[in-house]
Amino acid sequence: MKAFFLGPKSENEAWVRSEIQSILDHWFGWRKSLFPNDPEVISKPERREPAFLADREAMSQALAELNDLLEDETPKFTPRYIGHMVSEISLPAIFGHFAALLHNPNNTSKEVARVGTVIEREALEMLAEMIGFEPSEVAGHFTGGGTMANFEAIWRARYRLDHWLSLALYLAEHEGVPLRLADATQMGWQRYRELVSEYSVPDEKLRDLSAVVSNPYETAELISKHIGRPYRGPVILVPGNKHFSWQKGTNIFGLGEEAFWTVDTEAKGKLSIASLKQQIDRAENEQRPVLMVVSVAGTTEAGEIDPVHDVVDLLEGLKRTRGRNIWHHVDAAYGGFMCSLLHTPETPHLSSENRKALAAIRHANSVTLDPHKLGYIPYACGAFLARDEEAYAVSSFKAAYLDRPDLGDGKWSTTIEGSRSAAGASATWLTGKTMGFASPKFAEVISSTFEACHAFREALESSCPWVQVLHPVDTNILCFSIAKPGDTLSHSNAMTDEIFDRLVESPNFAVSRTVLGAQFMAPQITKHMDAFGGVVDADHLVLLRCVFMNPFLASPEVRTRIISEFSKELESHYQAAVSSLTQ
Ligand SMILES: *Cc1c(COP(=O)(O)O)cnc(C)c1O
Repeated sequence: MKAFFLGPKSENEAWVRSEIQSILDHWFGWRKSLFPNDPEVISKPERREPAFLADREAMSQALAELNDLLEDETPKFTPRYIGHMVSEISLPAIFGHFAALLHNPNNTSKEVARVGTVIEREALEMLAEMIGFEPSEVAGHFTGGGTMANFEAIWRARYRLDHWLSLALYLAEHEGVPLRLADATQMGWQRYRELVSEYSVPDEKLRDLSAVVSNPYETAELISKHIGRPYRGPVILVPGNKHFSWQKGTNIFGLGEEAFWTVDTEAKGKLSIASLKQQIDRAENEQRPVLMVVSVAGTTEAGEIDPVHDVVDLLEGLKRTRGRNIWHHVDAAYGGFMCSLLHTPETPHLSSENRKALAAIRHANSVTLDPHKLGYIPYACGAFLARDEEAYAVSSFKAAYLDRPDLGDGKWSTTIEGSRSAAGASATWLTGKTMGFASPKFAEVISSTFEACHAFREALESSCPWVQVLHPVDTNILCFSIAKPGDTLSHSNAMTDEIFDRLVESPNFAVSRTVLGAQFMAPQITKHMDAFGGVVDADHLVLLRCVFMNPFLASPEVRTRIISEFSKELESHYQAAVSSLTQ
């Protein structure tokens, strides 16, 4: 594993220097070898002219200035950085990113990325293998990040729902078939195709009734007429531990944030299956189509893994018994790369429940991954994966319906983003080729981050009795509050905030802070407080949050030293906070 990272002291410097040089050499040579008879443009005498040299000097100076500025950049490579979901980036990722950057492919189309698009496809298949999608069937693309990938899922779920609903509306209008919203909006593509052929439904008629390519308000009026009550539109069911990108999504897609229906979480902070079931039934009673169900593998706050396998079972049951095809998206932006652990027999610190949940991701319709988090890839690199072409289908302004002859030559019409760099795909490709996402080697890195988290937790719990760890610690994120037995939540919040403020000022460590609100996370807050006889007198729980992604914490010497210094630092901030709050 030590070969794959530069090292906190640039230990692998000499080799990295020569590899970067080889990328540059290749790039220079490539230019020279193409069209060898074309003339030079920048001649030797010109390169000696004072104005030319002055321009160069200006660039050198500005570059030096930029380097100076970057001296103050947040140092995320160091094992002392345990703040947000970012850490050291891997060497294959840097090489892949840099090599592609110089060729500047635009993966929006094969015309401007003959190789970039091929690399993207291969990288996508590597990610598919990791999460258990069939690599030959997976469809998807790299995105600017997890937020974008989540939007891609909403776009596709809406495309599907819109088709099925338009058809049902057509049959209601023209064939006298009563409109039953839940049946219609979850009918499945097979039923859709059967009905289209049975009734010989013309494409233009469906377009006229589409809420997406026609007028959504007219469509809603018609739906209202047929269901005999005002139509309020579809809803998205997302657990309370959701990432705020989902709320953004309902807003941007014009569903209205009211359409964002929260599924309760239980005392472990994970999606409650009972609540999900209730929300699905409630949607049916209120005649609100379920656009999609989201489960989260690796929550942004505490790294918890929702019971994806139970969600899969519930939805498959609804399909079997009621013919409901409900879109299931797994937001695995953070936790998706933990699926590498499924490819190794030993996974200490991963419970069998969580292993089952990760293994069930393969049954989802679509998945969000963030290579720029636990893939150790530079920004900006997210990925959207659909299980097959059918799940990947989406409408564009050009051709709204499934048959898409225009798609032959590029993805431009199936991605929300237009121009897309190939650098992220290329970095992922090189990492996959060398470390291998579905391999024990990559699993070893991920596993070491779990171990580091575990070691910190043990050390803090034994040396700092006022540290109250938030349970469960599912993965590699440790959240804790500062409280003594019997403390009130409001006092604990004040203490945690005091200590966080001091940590922010400290150059020695970077941690982050998160807040669980009682509105969505009450069971977990209560359980947390009960564990030390605390008194709940506030509607939120402030937590210090440590994200252990750093690969160098795998080294026992580094880990022991950092843990001991961190405990001491925390202790001194604790004492200071106690005296400042009692004054
Ligand atoms: C990070 C994250 C996102 C958003 O990803 P960006 O890359 O920041 O856009 C979405 N969902 C979850 C669970 C995340 O952890």
